[in-house]
Parts: sequence; C-alpha cells; structure tokens
Amino acid sequence: MKLIDLYNKKDFVFSIEIFPPKTDKGVEKLKSTLKGFRQFAPDYMSVTYGAGGTSRENTHEMAVHINHELGIPAMAHLTCVSHTADEIDKVLTSLKNRNIENVMALRGDPPVGTDRFVRPEGGYQSDSALISAIRKHSSFAIGAAGYPEGHVENPDKEEDRIHLHEKIACGAQFIISQFFLDNIHFLRWRDLLRHEGVSLPLIAGILPPTNWHSLQSMSAMCGVSIPKQLAQDLIKQEDDPEVCREIGFDHVERQLEELLSEGVEGVHLYALNRLETVERLGPQLQKASGESLNAVTV
Ligand code: FAD
Repeated sequence: MKLIDLYNKKDFVFSIEIFPPKTDKGVEKLKSTLKGFRQFAPDYMSVTYGAGGTSRENTHEMAVHINHELGIPAMAHLTCVSHTADEIDKVLTSLKNRNIENVMALRGDPPVGTDRFVRPEGGYQSDSALISAIRKHSSFAIGAAGYPEGHVENPDKEEDRIHLHEKIACGAQFIISQFFLDNIHFLRWRDLLRHEGVSLPLIAGILPPTNWHSLQSMSAMCGVSIPKQLAQDLIKQEDDPEVCREIGFDHVERQLEELLSEGVEGVHLYALNRLETVERLGPQLQKASGESLNAVTV
C-alpha cells in the first residue's frame, strides 16, 4: 500500500520506525520483537538506512519481512550517502521488484568525524535532488524529513523551511518530523507551514527520553532542546534507570495527549527496536488510529 493513500484515507496514522541490525542473529531477534509490535496494529513501519555495509542490505530484508510476513505496509529509508546516481537507481529497482512501494528520502548525515556533507562522486547533494530522482524512477510514495527546531547544520530556520518547500516541490508527499520534547516547537512549525500553503501531512516524530546521558548526546546531535523540568527530573534520578524510564514515558504520554487533541495527522514513534517502548505507548496510539478508521468507515 502506498502511504500517501493511507494518510489521505485516515485522520490519524500510527507508524513505528526501526533500525536494521548488523548481524544475522540481530535480524532474527528483531523479527521476533516485531511480532510484539504487531499486536498494537501500527499502520506502517519504516526501516532506517545506515551509512554502509550489511546494515543497508538488512534495511531491505526487514522492509520485505514487514511487508510480506507481517502484512504491515513498510517504508524503506534511503540516503544520498556513499551512493552514485546509478547505485541509487539500482536500489530503487530492487525495492520495486520486492514490492516495496514507499521510500523515505534523506540526504543523510556527514560521515563520522566530519562536520560537512560532501556530495558523493556521481551522486546527489541534497534530499531534493534524491526526491527528484525517485520521482523519475517510478511511482513510489515518498516521505521526507522536517525539523521543527531547525536542522542542526543550519542556524537560519527560515532558510531551512525554504529547503523543505523545495523537497515538497520536488515530490515529497508527507513530512515526518525530527523528534521534539516540547510540543510548542512542532505546533508552531506546523502552523507556519500551513500558513505558507503546505497542505500535505506533517507527522510528529516522538522519542521517549529514558536516560539523561543518551538524551543529552542525542539532543545535541539532532539540535533538539530539552525542557528544563524534564532535564532536572532526569538528572535528579540519574542513578535509578527505572525511575528515569518512567519519567520519560510519562513526559511522552503527556506530549501525545496534547498532540492528539491538536489533531495531528500522525505520530511516528522512534521505537529504537525496543518492545517496552511500543508496549507502553502503543495502546494510546493504536486507539487513536482505530478511532480514526471508524470515522472513515461510518
Ligand atoms: P536536507 O533536507 O538535504 O537538509 C540538510 C541540510 O542541508 C539542512 O541544513 C538544510 O537546510 C540544507 N539544505 C537542504 N537543501 C539545500 C540546498 N538546496 N542548498 C543548500 N542547503 C540545503 N539518517 C540516516 O542516515 N538514515 C536514516 O534512515 C535516517 N532517517 C531519518 C528519519 C527522519 C524522520 C529524520 C527526521 C531524520 C533521519 N535521518 C536519517 C537523519 C538525516 O539524514 C539527517 O538529519 C541529515 O543531516 C539531513 O537529512 P535531510 O534529508 O533532512 O537533508
């Protein structure tokens, strides 16, 4: 199923993002974990694309597994990193032959140890260029990334939004946001984009913060701000991982409640392959997704 049809059909779509393991053993373990995810009836799952090596093959293996074995629509992420245009073309042909109809198009991060993305020789410089290539290749549904607090490499938020408009003009059909911990960032960004004439689905990316140190490094890497109260609470309980997890889940549950009441078109849960995350937040999201389906069929 093409995800744009899903977003057009339903008022609310619940999706889960996973990352591909590097080893065969890891792949088998994740396949077993995904059976647990399936209980919460996500509308689709997406699989991230690594910087290279076996994990890239495993992105496709996991997407095919989700699609064909679990019967859940899958989206494969694809980046410009270390790929020539010909290689991208081959990846797209392979995805098409394996009946994957949805691609999340991304530029990708600069390689570790560098602070600037350099266009691979014979490849693409930006996400917009990749989206245009996907569009020309065949009729994939195409998602792209958006940054409510601005992209970490670009201090000019307005220019960042202009680049988002370019991605949409090139053919992105729905936008999934970077995670955020204060809804105000997403809601303001959404209102601004609507005001600027963007009508396609703007999906809220949600990541439960369950550990102060990993949250700090993740936030710095992604340019995401941490609300003061959340930081204080996590630091205070730093030595008690279970209490920290509770603090993080409680925080995200409140975020979800508000986002649902604000009528978001979808939530994309960065589950980081953890069953606990889906068990904890899945029921709320499954309910919203189920109610949205009833609204469509009534
Ligand atoms: P772009 O939209 O190309 O933007 C990157 C930077 O370039 C921004 O600062 C933007 O302002 C600037 N820019 C854009 N267009 C132009 C232009 N024409 N001229 C000048 N500057 C420009 N990474 C992975 O490696 N694998 C994944 O699977 C993955 N999945 C992700 C999923 C989501 C939902 C999100 C939010 C991010 C994901 N990322 C992933 C991270 C992503 O690759 C990085 O954030 C990357 O730095 C930017 O990718 P992008 O496609 O958003 O880039």
